[in-house]
Amino acid sequence: MNLPLEHIQLAVRDSQSALVDFTQHIVATPSLPGQEGDVAEIIQNEMENLGFDEVWRDPVGNIIGKIIGGDGPTILLNGHMDHVDTGPQDGWPYPPFSGQIVNGELWGRASVDMKGPVACMIYATSLFKRLDLKPRGNIYMTVPVMEEIGGLGTQHLITHLSAQAAICGEPSNNTLRRGHRGRVELRVTFEGHSAHASAPHLGVNPHYAAAKFLTYLPDLTMAFDETLGPSTVVPTLYATDQLSPNVIPGRVYLTLDWRNIAGEAPEDIVAKVKSLVASIEDLDQNVTVVVKSQEFTTYTGLIREIPAIFPSYLLSEEDRFVQAAHQALVTALGRDDGIDIWRFATDGGHLMTADIPTVGFGPGDETLAHTNQERISLVQMEEAVVAYFALTTALAEAA
Ligand SMILES: [Zn+2]
Repeated sequence: MNLPLEHIQLAVRDSQSALVDFTQHIVATPSLPGQEGDVAEIIQNEMENLGFDEVWRDPVGNIIGKIIGGDGPTILLNGHMDHVDTGPQDGWPYPPFSGQIVNGELWGRASVDMKGPVACMIYATSLFKRLDLKPRGNIYMTVPVMEEIGGLGTQHLITHLSAQAAICGEPSNNTLRRGHRGRVELRVTFEGHSAHASAPHLGVNPHYAAAKFLTYLPDLTMAFDETLGPSTVVPTLYATDQLSPNVIPGRVYLTLDWRNIAGEAPEDIVAKVKSLVASIEDLDQNVTVVVKSQEFTTYTGLIREIPAIFPSYLLSEEDRFVQAAHQALVTALGRDDGIDIWRFATDGGHLMTADIPTVGFGPGDETLAHTNQERISLVQMEEAVVAYFALTTALAEAA
C-alpha cells in the first residue's frame, strides 16, 4: 500500500471543497456538552457517505466510524464534538456559528477546538475507502462527547474499544505533541459551627481556618518535570453553606485547581494537601479534602458521575510511536517542526490511562481556542488531512 505522496496530496486537493463545506456545517451547529445530538447526526451521516465500513453511536452518544483493515494493529483517532460557550456574541468579529470564511480562514466557535481537526481526521481516514486502499489493521475514527467537562465520552470509549496506538487531534498548529500536564479539581471543606452573627462566641467560624490554610498553600513543594515544568495549584472557587449575610456559616468550601505532571496521581495530590492541613498548627477544625465529582447527563439521556480528573501524560521523545510519527510528518509536510507538548489537558490522557500510546497532532492555532477570535486556516486543514493519513499509516507500521 505504498502510494506516492503526490497521489495522496492530489486526492486531498480534490476533496478540499467538500471538507470545507462539512466543516462549515458542523461549526454552524452548536454542540455544548450534553447538547451534541444535532452535530452527532451530521457527523454520522458524513462518515456513512464517505464510505466508512461501519458507523455507530454508543450509549453516551459518541460517534465511531470503523474502517476494516488487515490483521495488523488497530489505530484510533480521537476528536471531541463539544465546545465551550461563546461568551457575549457581540464580542466576535463574525458570528460564532457562521462558519464564515475570511481571507482563507474559517471563523467560529469550535473551528479550532476542534471541529476543524475532526473534519480533517474524518476526511483523512476515509481516504482509505475512497482510494480503495486496505490499511494494515482496523481504524477507529472516534468523535466523543463532553470533552470540555472532563472527557466523559472518551472515558466511555475506552471501556469498549481498544487500539495499539492513537492520535489525539487537538490543535497543535500542525506540529507533533507527546503529552501535557493534567488537571485535578479538589474540594477542601472547613467545618465550623453555625451561629447567629450577633453572637460569634456561640459559633466556630470556618472562614478563619480557610484563611489560615490559604496563607500556607503557596508554601507547598510542587513536583517538577523537565519537560512539563512544575505542577501548580491555585484556589479558584469559594462558597459557604449559607445564603444569609447575618449567619456564621457551618461550612466553607474551597476549590483548588491543581495542574499535575505525569506520574503524580490524584491520591498523591489529596494526600499532599491533607498533610499540609495536618502540619498547620491550630487548624483544629474538621478539614476534609476530596477530588471533586459531578453528575452529568448526556444528550442520549444517560446520567453519569464523573470525577474532575484530567490525566497528565508524557511519552518519551524516543518512544517508537513518537519517532514514527515524527518521521512521517517530516516526509508528508516536507519540514521538521520538532516535537513539543501541549499547554492544556486533552482526551489523550484518558486514552493513555487505557494503555493506548497517544501522539498529538492537529491543524489550528491552539492559542485561539476558547477565545472570540477562533478561526482556522484552510491551508493548514488541507495539509492536516495529508498528515493524518501519513500518521495513521506510520503508527500502524510502528506498532
Ligand atoms: Zn479540545
